[in-house]
Amino acid sequence: MSGSSATSPAISFASVQFDAQGVPESTHYDDIYFSRDDGVAESKYVFLQQNGLPERWQNLKPGQVFHIAETGFGTGLNFLLTAAAFLHALALQKAPAANATACNKKAPAANALALQMLHYTSFEKSPLRRQDLERALSHWAHIPELRELSATLLRHYPMQLSGQHRLHLHPNITLDLIFADVLTALPDWAANHADSVDAWYLDGFAPSKNPDMWQPELYRGIARSMRAGATLATFTATGHVRRGLQQAGIHMQKVPGFGSKREMLRGYQQKLAQPQSRNPFLKQSASSRPQTLCIIGDGIAAASLLWALRDYPGNITLLQPSQGWATGASGNPQGAVYPLLQANWTRTSEFYSHAFLYAQRLYTELAPQAVNFSGVLELATGSDANRRIRKLLALGAYPQTLVQGATQQQASTIAGIALPAPALYYPNAGWVQPTELVASIAEQALAYRQQHGLTTEVKSATQVVAIEKTALLWTVTNTTGSSDAFNQLVLANGAQLADLLPQATIPIRPVRGQITQLNVEPNSELAQLRTVVCHKGYITPATKTGDQATLCIGATFDKTRSSNDYIAADDDANLQQLCDELGYTVDASAIAASRASVRATTPDHLPVIGQVPWVRTRYNAESVAENVAETYTNLWVLSGLGARGFTSAPLCAEALASQIMQRPNPLSASLAAALAADRFVQKAILRKQDPLSL
Ligand code: SAM
Repeated sequence: MSGSSATSPAISFASVQFDAQGVPESTHYDDIYFSRDDGVAESKYVFLQQNGLPERWQNLKPGQVFHIAETGFGTGLNFLLTAAAFLHALALQKAPAANATACNKKAPAANALALQMLHYTSFEKSPLRRQDLERALSHWAHIPELRELSATLLRHYPMQLSGQHRLHLHPNITLDLIFADVLTALPDWAANHADSVDAWYLDGFAPSKNPDMWQPELYRGIARSMRAGATLATFTATGHVRRGLQQAGIHMQKVPGFGSKREMLRGYQQKLAQPQSRNPFLKQSASSRPQTLCIIGDGIAAASLLWALRDYPGNITLLQPSQGWATGASGNPQGAVYPLLQANWTRTSEFYSHAFLYAQRLYTELAPQAVNFSGVLELATGSDANRRIRKLLALGAYPQTLVQGATQQQASTIAGIALPAPALYYPNAGWVQPTELVASIAEQALAYRQQHGLTTEVKSATQVVAIEKTALLWTVTNTTGSSDAFNQLVLANGAQLADLLPQATIPIRPVRGQITQLNVEPNSELAQLRTVVCHKGYITPATKTGDQATLCIGATFDKTRSSNDYIAADDDANLQQLCDELGYTVDASAIAASRASVRATTPDHLPVIGQVPWVRTRYNAESVAENVAETYTNLWVLSGLGARGFTSAPLCAEALASQIMQRPNPLSASLAAALAADRFVQKAILRKQDPLSL
């Protein structure tokens, strides 16, 4: 797997000091974060007013996303003022709608207006430490509309991990905080956010103090990401900034600056509008009905998708193969949630770190009763694990809040039981109760849709046996022979995916895993286990049902079988592994239950998301046949979650939903490409291998 766009996972914090008035200053750049005179008024004038805000929000359509991007998040003041103004504008729109409804006049329903979104992307090279951010924001404690938003921002403010952190701070406000040098990150981000941004806030310290940032690459990335007619504002009037933006294709204009500042710049994107996209929101005209969408699956992938698509405007049908939620690989009694980190900061490390943080935030928000983030230890037992763990610790590059080293003694103290080896310790990771978690996420998605007047149908015990494209629709046939057609179809059915695909273009490998549940005596050592411990397998802390405490060990990893029948020898293997790896001998009489399921794995250990690929043969100028990879329009997949589904599903679902709804992507272009469903086919074609033998 190739390296990530950043060279190190941990980003450096800003060096900040506060003056007598409490205004933060950067000691590195020798510049202030906001004006000493009136930071709020200046920010509102320069960035909101000169971008035509809040007036432009008056015309937002139901379901529309207004996307603002910024260089330099700093103290978040611009963001907070924008978010407060956006919520105020929404409240003003809802008020007349409510009155009109009361008079029985035709007016946009308040619930539809509630779906309008502010999406704010901000790039930050040197984030403030949380305590500095808290101190900086306390400067505005006297402004009531910023108080709650500031507290929410502080609660969600991410750890110092480089890359894109997606934070859902309010039902109508999403913040993508990208911890990276904007010059390095912007080209990659702009590649899958072309024609996406409605307004740019070009902040960052003054060009004279921070000349490295104000470069032509920055202006090109900005221009690429702007929609036709999008606007830009910046506090500076420096000549080379104006000329650079102009050369990038943005029409620039000098306007009076704030207060004593003579001038500043504003501009608009003058390129032509793009042809209409597949965006289901944009397709709707007064006469056309919103597009229907079907999800096949019942596990964490399907539930996370339902949540990520919660404001999808058309009807959603969910087809569950059995009765209820989490009947397949997502249905074990306990599931670990922790990132898969390679020693180096690779795409795999980057994806799993961010997927883990995203899942942890989402689960804590939606289903706190079903999660227990009491830490995970990954023991350096086997020789491969040992080598990787030693290298990872020697590089020392990851934030300590994500992962740290623990000696054998420390690991044992953290776990609450004696352990035989040193370990990686993930202090914020843990375990979930899968069935409760999956059901809870799905229920909240259903409730949200109902509350906003959006329809969803859940059909259980509907085993799909075939899918077929008929005209512009995807037809789904189940075991009873009956069929339904949908505009969009999403396959989130794990290892069963392969049965439904017309060609084997995605190498999903089914791997059987059986877990064993053990009864433990309350006074026994294993009952004292406080964290998940991973080795070749894993063991989870005990949970109590009535008087009985049980824990889980597992899981077997059998590439040769794809059935979920119970196998007694698999329980023996789990007990033997517990003994070999951790040194605990448990008698088979302690077995309380066992469960087998089939996981969908991929050769590169990354999930697959995106439109399903197929292979077309064409003839080149010399009449030689060659293969080209295409994708089926509106046939989507989320699979290949392997044994890490509870870590990766929510971010994968968010990324897929962003593609389906044409909204800002939580992944950069290169990370999205590393997960794309057509990556295997593309590689096979490049290597002149048979793309249909995957
Ligand atoms: N918009 C901020 C606010 O509302 O508080 C104030 C921004 S402050 C004046 C400038 C910010 O730009 C700093 O936080 C600084 O770390 C950031 N910055 C400077 N150079 C950068 C770069 N190359 N990439 C990303 N951020 C950068």
